[in-house]
Amino acid sequence: MSEPLIELRGVSKRFVKPLDTATRIAGALGMAPRHEIVHAVDGVDIAVAKGEVVGLVGESGCGKSTLGRIAVGLLEPSAGARRWRGRDLSAMTPAERQRVRLAIQMIFQDPYASLNPRLRVQEIIGEAPVVHGLITRSQQKDYVAELMGRVGLNAALIRGFPHQFSGGQRARIGIARALAVRPEFLVCDEALAALDVSIQAQVLNLFIGLRADLGLTYLFISHDLGVVRHVSDRVLVMYLGRVVESAPTEALYAAPNHPYTQALLAGIPRLESGRKTYVPIRGEVPSPLDPPSGCHFHPRCPHAMARCVSEQPSLREIAPGRISACHLNDATS
Ligand code: SF4
Repeated sequence: MSEPLIELRGVSKRFVKPLDTATRIAGALGMAPRHEIVHAVDGVDIAVAKGEVVGLVGESGCGKSTLGRIAVGLLEPSAGARRWRGRDLSAMTPAERQRVRLAIQMIFQDPYASLNPRLRVQEIIGEAPVVHGLITRSQQKDYVAELMGRVGLNAALIRGFPHQFSGGQRARIGIARALAVRPEFLVCDEALAALDVSIQAQVLNLFIGLRADLGLTYLFISHDLGVVRHVSDRVLVMYLGRVVESAPTEALYAAPNHPYTQALLAGIPRLESGRKTYVPIRGEVPSPLDPPSGCHFHPRCPHAMARCVSEQPSLREIAPGRISACHLNDATS
């Protein structure tokens, strides 16, 4: 892999769950309240090369959106480092950090909720580049019209408000807004999930076209394994806050190594059923509030051995460009 554009090294994120009413009352009566810690992300390493599209998959609550927000800088990690072109962001000057902030943009799941309903499209897309000195106010209209054309919107609608657009058009406005500050790296967090299936394909093709035209780099976060397969060069699989497998896309889909990846792929919905169900292997579903020791997946894994309960498997290379965290790989090495 060429030099990473962005790296997260040993990144963890813990949240303290707000106390419920009963615990607060107990605290007021003198009992020491017990704070619950959510281990959303636990010691994750990610490196994304320039021009690469990395897919990040896993079930709801596995920490993939939290990781995406850390990559963008919307969340500070509890531990670990964030690097841009090999340099730690914490060692940069404020001006350098500001340049990185513009170079990394996020595309949100709900385009309507992320667009200010009181602003016209020209302001939604064109305000940030004016504020950050990329264009002058007098250039704004032409600049926004050009961006609208690039994302497949009719520039005649530049004076419209968000509620006057369809869901697919609003998604395109959100993409144009991100492109307006000339980013290099986009984190797309379930960017297609709110769209109809027919519109999803169009917006997915837009992402692919923009990558080719502008040399963009993506972290593509999705629970939809079909979408990720279509767009990604490499896929990372997360489970309960950890990356458990990483591999080139075709290799991963052809022969998943980690038992969790195998379960995830077995749960891809079939056309005839149209339903998405992840295969429940055993009854107990572990919680990020109290992650099990050893391999997090062991309560659900059909291959679990005695050591899996107490010993955490480390990520190790199982083939060129492929890593997986499973004790079964130790047994076969
Ligand atoms: Fe299953 Fe053990 Fe591998 Fe975890 S380490 S996935 S429990 S075999």
